[in-house]
Amino acid sequence: MAQLIEGKPVALGVRKSLVPRIAALKARGVEPKLAVVLVGDDPASAVYVRNKERMCQRLGIGSVVARMEADASQEDVVKTVRGLNADASVHGLLVQLPLPGHIDEAAVLREVSAEKDVDCFHAVNAGKLLRGEEGFLPCTPAGVIRLLDDAGIAIEGKEAVVIGRSNIVGKPLALMLLQRNATVTVCHSRTRNLAEVTRRADILVAAIGKAGFVTADMVKPGAAVIDVGVNRVAEGKVAGDVDFASVEPVAGYITPVPGGVGTMTIAMLMQNTVFAAERSRA
Ligand code: NAP
Repeated sequence: MAQLIEGKPVALGVRKSLVPRIAALKARGVEPKLAVVLVGDDPASAVYVRNKERMCQRLGIGSVVARMEADASQEDVVKTVRGLNADASVHGLLVQLPLPGHIDEAAVLREVSAEKDVDCFHAVNAGKLLRGEEGFLPCTPAGVIRLLDDAGIAIEGKEAVVIGRSNIVGKPLALMLLQRNATVTVCHSRTRNLAEVTRRADILVAAIGKAGFVTADMVKPGAAVIDVGVNRVAEGKVAGDVDFASVEPVAGYITPVPGGVGTMTIAMLMQNTVFAAERSRA
């Protein structure tokens, strides 16, 4: 039976570590502040943004949400982003995804100032991550690493397999595992003999977007299985990319969904916002 790696206590630890840092900033007259650009009325996005606002409030981080109509033009969205870039009271800035179909997402994300890019999507920050230079760490991958560390799972020298190669999760996580001296394999939809590859993993990360995709036959006995997936399977119900019921008896460690990686993402976003505020006066 696997040891359950729950996100909540780890996220709480991250948030607690921010309290003195926020107090130190305020003592210097700096109130860390996060700005979110929300375009349209996607219900899931609205929930994510509300959760971010609430977490800011709980920690004493300022927050502002620039809400824009679903038919807002590309030009208007860019103008809003540029306005928040220029606003010195804002330290962290993110654009809630997905954007409506008529908007060029990549072009909008390119506009977010690298200094305020708390999602770590900007090419400069992605480049720093690639080179191992200090900078923002992407929230979900950073949350995964933190969960592994907190559970006492050594990364160095391990075989790590990441299923998924998105710019948001798979690729940056692979880089971060490599940075920590794992031997990393990245799998995707064209990977041949996927189960053969995943069965080599001491650390197996699923970031696919398909409920229950990873089954017991794909897992090495005793492996740490980290489930990044969040898949809406029924009204108000989410499931991970890992078939928890079949994998749990085989794995050594496993994260639940909900209550695992997802819980970490907002905590790491708060950490990045505080980091941005600290650097703004450095
Ligand atoms: P994405 O951009 O859709 O990428 C999915 C990846 O999975 C792609 O690289 C794709 O391969 C790969 N894939 C799809 N089908 C596959 C298959 N049959 N075999 C092997 N690989 C396959 O998704 P994402 O943004 O990375 O998100 C992944 C999951 O994590 C989603 O469920 C998302 O909701 C969740 N997520 C959670 C958090 C959180 O805070 N917990 C944050 C972000 C995302 P190709 O590149 O070849 O298409």
